[in-house]
Parts: sequence; structure tokens; C-alpha cells
Amino acid sequence: MQKLMGNAVYGGIGRGVMKFFHREEVVISKARVGDTLRELRRFAYARNEVVEELKHLYSQAVDEVGEDEAQIFLIHQMILDDNQYVNSMEKLILNDHSNAEFAVVRTVKLFSKMMEETSTESEYISERIADIRDVSARLLRHLQNRDEQVFKLEEMSIVCADDFLPSETIMLDKSKVAAICTSYGSTNSHTAILARTRGIPCIIGVGDDLKDELENKYCIVDSYSGIMYIEPDNETSKLLDHKEAIEGRKRELLTRLRGRKNITRDGREIEVLANICDLTDIESAKVNDCGGIGLLRSEYLYLDKEDYPNEDVQFYNYRRVLTEMQGKPVVIRTMDIGADNELDYFGLDQEKNPALGFRSIRVCLSRPEIFKTQLRALFRASVYGDLRILFPLIIDVDEIVKIKEIINEVKAELLRDGKQFKDNIPIGILVETPAAVMLSDLLAEQVDFFSIGTNDLEQYSNAIYRHNPQFEKICPANRICVLRMIKMVCDNAHAHGIKAYICGELGADTNFTEVFLDLHVDGLSVTPTNILPVRKTIRSLNLSDRRQVRQNIQKHLKC
Ligand code: PEP
Ligand code: MG
Repeated sequence: MQKLMGNAVYGGIGRGVMKFFHREEVVISKARVGDTLRELRRFAYARNEVVEELKHLYSQAVDEVGEDEAQIFLIHQMILDDNQYVNSMEKLILNDHSNAEFAVVRTVKLFSKMMEETSTESEYISERIADIRDVSARLLRHLQNRDEQVFKLEEMSIVCADDFLPSETIMLDKSKVAAICTSYGSTNSHTAILARTRGIPCIIGVGDDLKDELENKYCIVDSYSGIMYIEPDNETSKLLDHKEAIEGRKRELLTRLRGRKNITRDGREIEVLANICDLTDIESAKVNDCGGIGLLRSEYLYLDKEDYPNEDVQFYNYRRVLTEMQGKPVVIRTMDIGADNELDYFGLDQEKNPALGFRSIRVCLSRPEIFKTQLRALFRASVYGDLRILFPLIIDVDEIVKIKEIINEVKAELLRDGKQFKDNIPIGILVETPAAVMLSDLLAEQVDFFSIGTNDLEQYSNAIYRHNPQFEKICPANRICVLRMIKMVCDNAHAHGIKAYICGELGADTNFTEVFLDLHVDGLSVTPTNILPVRKTIRSLNLSDRRQVRQNIQKHLKC
């Protein structure tokens, strides 16, 4: 058995024989044409043919995957109408006496280079370049009078390729495609989107090991985990059967809960949101039908870099989350650097106890220029959705006063620079230190919401480092402590008319969902895979019996 790994795009198990797709190699050579007007007519004819073909593909895609995903073929038509794109080819024909085929190839090169140089949003740009290539390949085919390449599948297949162009994916015969796996490409490519929409298990970016010599080998694709099992042994095959059954039950649950409110049987509603680290988690949040993003740990944007990500890179990332969430709330926590997340380029001093040291908001307040870059990016992105900003590791009111001063400076700068932003972005704090709990009445006067970070809160209140193996023993034995703190924070929040959420891991523990509701927690933000079990639990509860609520609080909080 051989195992290959890549990025999972659409969760599922697919079984079949590996079949490799190869795009026809097309050789285009430069030729000098004498009759440029005739060449222009040839080009215009091919272009019209492509437009007609794209119209047909658009209606086919609307029927198969719906209007949203079919948009790609409208975009391709727009590319064919783009003056710059068309002029570039016409000029090459007219001025350089270039043959139309060469003009197409040259234009694709010029456009790709120009787009790569002018944008920092590399993933987005590679998608746009893939679109231009796709349309241009179609143009070339018509110019050369070639038939559309058909990838015929005779049996259930794991379709493999370097990468697919959007139109190649739509042409696949779905009834024979058990899974799609590519060596390259991004999880946000149209191939990925189409696979997702068509419900085809899909793994992207498997790398160079996905090669032709595997043709015709039997393979099971586990696109929940992004693993291809080539010629799997019996045990693996059985394990995957089991996994498929479990995931199938989850999917059934999702179908039942999708679009439904998180409401108890007696009518108490509670928000259930997703904790995510970066853009790759958005899909999982959406697939699990989250009510929004309750915690985006923005430091992940800083972690895999050699240097500070600039304002534009951050802006594009935040904007992307907001647009993907389509108006649902998105809580972005400002960078929580230090402690476990040390980064060389921050140049922080080595400390004996980093978890108790110079980290998080402390770093931001002492390096306002870095903090301001992030805030500028966040404020600029705010116009794209319902953004809320969360500040970590707060221990006193002064910190909030300083944060607000910096926010005012950022707003003044953005106004001066003519950048758009929302003026009234809600700001909240992570209540994750005992200090913040004890001062929660004062802090509630300063902010728009609380989010209780039980991971750090338990670490600091029980005086046990969260990565110490004893943490899992000590904290559960003393849950009364954190539950009492949650009560205090909720009471103080509500007394000041603001909401209190939980975003630490404890929020996903369904053994406590009932007591969280008894304590009037307003929302739970949990890892995407925990969303459904939490929602299911909420919908099974009935809190109408006041006596039972009191007993439950007494049982868990001893008060
Ligand atoms: C927490 O401390 O509970 C929290 C949500 O933040 P993190 O786990 O990122 O420290
Ligand atoms: Mg924390």
C-alpha cells in the first residue's frame, strides 16, 4: 500500500481505479502572415465560436451545479470581451503580422506576467491566470479546428491530473468520477469549488508523487483527511468503510440541522460560531453550517512568514473571510504572538516563562506601528461584512483606553488616505485572565462584547501551563472554578447590556452545554467539526423547569 497526501477540498470517500488526464500538447509556432485583415477575421470567427461554446457550457453548469458556480463561464465570456485582452491579440496580428495562434499564446504570457507583478494576492491571481489560460486554450482549439478533448472514463475512476482547468472539470462524466486528485492547484480553485458543489471527494496539491505510473491502480481516496491509499490493504479498507459510515451519519445530521436555528425546546436561542485559524478553515466552517466566525486567530497569518505580512496581504485575507461569510458575524482576534507562537522576525527576548511574559496585546501595545498595520487592514476590510475585532490577554481598563487611542489614530490616517471603513466596528476582549474576570464589571463599560477564552483562563486560574500533560487532569477536576468565572463574566456583561461568548475549547464540551445556557452564555464558538454536535445538544434541551436549572447550577457551580 502506498499513501499520498494533499489538501482535502471536499470530504468524502471515493473508491476507483486511478486514471490520469493529460492535456493535449499543442505546439504553436510563430508565423508571419501577409494578409493581416484575413487573420483578424479568422481570429474574430474563432472568438465568436468560443462565445457560443461558453454560453452552452454556462447553461449546462447552471443545470448541474447551480447559478453561483456556473458564473465562471460568464467570467470567461467577459474575458473574451475584455478590450485589453482582445486589443493585445489584434495588435500583435496587425502590427507584428503575427499569426492568430501565436498572438494568443503571447497575450497569455504578457497577461500572466503583468498580473503576477501587480498583485500581492497570489492565490487569487493564480485563479485569474488559470481562467485566462482556459479561455485562451479554447480560442486556440478553434483556431486550429481541433475537437474538444474528451476524457472518457469506462469505470469508477479516481481522476488524477497536474491540475484541471474549470471547463475540464465540468466536462467530466460525474457518474464515473469517484474522486478528483491533482498534483498542484489551490483549494480555492474553480476545480475545487466545482468538486465541492458536485459533491465529489477531492484532494488538491498532492505533489509530484502523483505520477503516471500509478495509472490503473486501485485507490481509496479519503478526502476528509486528504489521503490517497493506493492498493490499500484489507484493514485500511475496512477502517475507511467505518469512517464513511460515521461521516455519513454526520452528514445526515447536517441535512437535518442546516438552516435551522440553535434553539432549545423551550425557545432559548444561542449563537454557534466557528473558531478558525486561516482561510483554509473557512470551508469547514461553512460546510458545518456555522452562524459566523467567532474567533479567527489572526496570528496564523504571521506564523509561516519570514517577515511581517504587509497591510495589503492582511487586508485581502480579512476581506476574503468577510465576503465568504456573506454578512454573518466575523470576529477577528488581533495577533496573539509570543508564548507558543514565537517568531524570529518579531525579535522578542527569550523569556523563562513566555506564557506569563511579554506576549499578545502587550507586544501590540509596545509596537504600535505593527499593531496599526493590522488595524488598518482590519478597518479597510470592515466594509465587506459584519466585522468585530477581539483583543487578547486583556488584564485592565488602561489597555483598552490605549487600544482606543490607537484605533482613533488609525481611523484618522485612513480618512486622510481616502480609504473606506466602517466607523462603528464592535470591539471586544478575550476574557482569558483571572484579572479580566475580576474586572469584568469595569471592562464591560468599555467594550461591545466579551469572549471567554477558557484555554488560557484555566491555565492562569489553575496555575498549570496549558501544554503540561497534567493540564488534562487538573482542570477537569476543578471545573467549578472556571464555571463560576463564566457566571461572573456573563452577569457583568448582561448588567451592562453586552453579550458574552465562549471561544475556548470547553465551549464545545456538550457535557456543559446545558449549564452554559443556564448561565445565559450568548454564544459558543467552537472548532468547525464540533458545531453540529453542539447544535444537536442545544436543540435537545429544555430549560423551562426553573427548579431544574437551579439544581443544575448548584451541581456544577456549588452555589
Ligand atoms: C483561549 O485562550 O481560550 C483562546 C480561545 O485563545 P487561544 O487558545 O488561541 O489562546
Ligand atoms: Mg488565549
